[in-house]
Amino acid sequence: MAPASSPRRMCELTMIHPATELRFISPEIGYGVFAREPIPRGTVMWVLCRFDIVLSPKNAAAFPPPYQPIFECYAYTDGAGRVIMCWDHGRYLNHSCDPTMLGVGGDFEIAVRDIAADEELTCEYAHLNLTEPMECRCGAPNCRGVIGSTDVLTLWPDLDRRMAEALPFARKVPQPLLVYAPNAAPFWNWVDGRAPLPSHRDYYAAAS
Ligand SMILES: [Zn+2]
Repeated sequence: MAPASSPRRMCELTMIHPATELRFISPEIGYGVFAREPIPRGTVMWVLCRFDIVLSPKNAAAFPPPYQPIFECYAYTDGAGRVIMCWDHGRYLNHSCDPTMLGVGGDFEIAVRDIAADEELTCEYAHLNLTEPMECRCGAPNCRGVIGSTDVLTLWPDLDRRMAEALPFARKVPQPLLVYAPNAAPFWNWVDGRAPLPSHRDYYAAAS
């Protein structure tokens, strides 16, 4: 397996961790994002970068009708009410009720546990402000069965705890993705305790 920094992989660098790739899972699930090598807890896995498309709800709704199912499938709404369409394979991240990565503020996601080579990367859709409930068959022992748009209002203490436990590892592991963050300073302020940690509770857009 080629290291992430090899020239062969340079053209595949995206604003999701470079040691990841898109793989087809099944006709029912579609694609998912997988680790090509072990990735340690605390690694920044995704950043909101300059290529991602950020729209107001009004501007997203003004796109012609054929575009709207694409928003439904691939975009999400953040806690500030912004509609985000990831330009990279971040938009293929699947949900798990026991996700490998969680948000740190709206612009970063970190690995909340060690990720093995060939393991699928997963995130928590509870904080993406789903417009419709989603059936979940993630297979995790704590699978909720249905992912709802208000789940984050009850899950946030546990999500915050897992994020806070993983964050101190951020200083101890390589961070190849942070150079693409428009502003990495807030992330390091949270890691180093110079600013209070953001809460997943604030991802609920209706609260903003
Ligand atoms: Zn589940």
